[in-house]
Amino acid sequence: MDRRAFLRAAGGAVAGTAAVSLLDSPIAAAEARPFRPSRPPVLPGPPFTLGVASGEPTHNSVVLWTRLAPDPLVPAGGMPPDPVRVDWEVAADEAFRRVVRRGRDVVLADEAHSAHVQVNGLFADSVYWYRFRVHGRGGEISPVGRTRTAPRHRSRRRHLRFATASCQNFGDGYYTAHRAMSQEDLDFVVFLGDYIYESRPNPLAVRLHEGDGEPVTLDRYRARHAQYRGDADLQACHAAFPWIVTFDDHEVDNNWADEIPQDPAVQPHDQFMARRAVALQAYWEHMPLSRRRKPVGPDIRVYRRFLWGDLLQLDVLDTRQYRTDQPADLAGANDPAATMLGAEQEAWLADGLSRSRARWNCVAQQTMVAQNDRQAGPGETFDFDNWDGYRVPRQRLLADLGRVQNPVVVTGDRHATWICDLRQDFYDPASATVGAELTGTSIASGGDSDPATFHAVYDPIMAESPHWKFIDNQRGYLVCDLDRDRWLTDLRTVSTVRAPEATVSTLAQFVTQAGVRGVAVA
Ligand code: FE
Ligand code: CA
Repeated sequence: MDRRAFLRAAGGAVAGTAAVSLLDSPIAAAEARPFRPSRPPVLPGPPFTLGVASGEPTHNSVVLWTRLAPDPLVPAGGMPPDPVRVDWEVAADEAFRRVVRRGRDVVLADEAHSAHVQVNGLFADSVYWYRFRVHGRGGEISPVGRTRTAPRHRSRRRHLRFATASCQNFGDGYYTAHRAMSQEDLDFVVFLGDYIYESRPNPLAVRLHEGDGEPVTLDRYRARHAQYRGDADLQACHAAFPWIVTFDDHEVDNNWADEIPQDPAVQPHDQFMARRAVALQAYWEHMPLSRRRKPVGPDIRVYRRFLWGDLLQLDVLDTRQYRTDQPADLAGANDPAATMLGAEQEAWLADGLSRSRARWNCVAQQTMVAQNDRQAGPGETFDFDNWDGYRVPRQRLLADLGRVQNPVVVTGDRHATWICDLRQDFYDPASATVGAELTGTSIASGGDSDPATFHAVYDPIMAESPHWKFIDNQRGYLVCDLDRDRWLTDLRTVSTVRAPEATVSTLAQFVTQAGVRGVAVA
């Protein structure tokens, strides 16, 4: 479809579709804007420099995202302060001959001119293509994205494939893993945190982070996100599948916990809360998250649930905003007052798991649940930012997982692959296996790994940790392939992240059989 055809189609349908999209939307009130663009904007250049994305797939809806940023690294992305009208359309074919939904959005400077279009009324279990258009001089049509709805809740969906990824430090390397992922056949991608890193630019890095020092202002967090999102491989992966995203610590500040920054002596409480607010605002602005997930002050609600027929229930967690501070020692790690999820989220999760009718129950979250001792021999060393630092809440999580069919936890953060059984008692090799944990490696964080050193350190600990089934520290991602009988997981690794060209291979495969708790190397 050429530009003129798009104009004709959009012009012919504007009145009707604006009304339809309002009627369709359960959040129409939130989307009704007080602003109206008066005339087409004059943009300093092509505005779709950050690509397009989709997310939040349900059986009849997705969220479409883009951001207008002709000059992505400067404040406001080079946009004038005015509201701008953006038209969007969704088609059943890549050539946009069969457009099934179209409408208009108005994007605002105080949301970095980002669009978060909730498209309802789609068919279940279907592939769609989408694109955006801005009017006026300098206006243009966006790249085309592809997305996919979930099957109906009661449908007996037989098969499902998704990837998990995390930790994409731009400075540490190239995103070959994203390019490879974009060529997989997937229903969706789950991103488990560390989408950006707030690290200062390092002249010795593979790629130089924007700016000067760590971001603390809204402009700087926007610029940091824009720099990451300018990457063509990352854009390709967003354009290929809907993404379900959650964040970990580096989207805000290393190892933050609720209202406590990494370094409370340096960042006073009020200053940190202001930083958290702008960091989460910029995060929402750059993610395919719906408008109703827009942060309110320093708070964003991202824990949520997705269903794929009766095959999969996916519970996405937030282990940052509600946790108590990291403990200093093992006594603190056993503190019964500690919480990882906060009371409300924990109750929500327990309730959702107890009601689940899904064949597979996947919990997508950030840091490792399985015990991860880092010292060979009888001495123990733990990272207390992980669930190892929150042992009483971990026992409650394990109890909840023990009550559902086929639980699998997918985890990020570790910058290494750690395939584990979750045990009722990690100190007792004879204790019951509750479920599987698939900790994926990083896309780039940590840079090229040194497997020899890694295995020299961890193989002796693995010999003492029978719940560890497989470990590796090369960069890459996991592909999960589910049917009613088994969950297969492929570990894809890249040969290097120091150069933009690299080879991708399948290093290992893991299997969980339905009805058998835990995971094994296939
Ligand atoms: Fe990370
Ligand atoms: Ca030890």
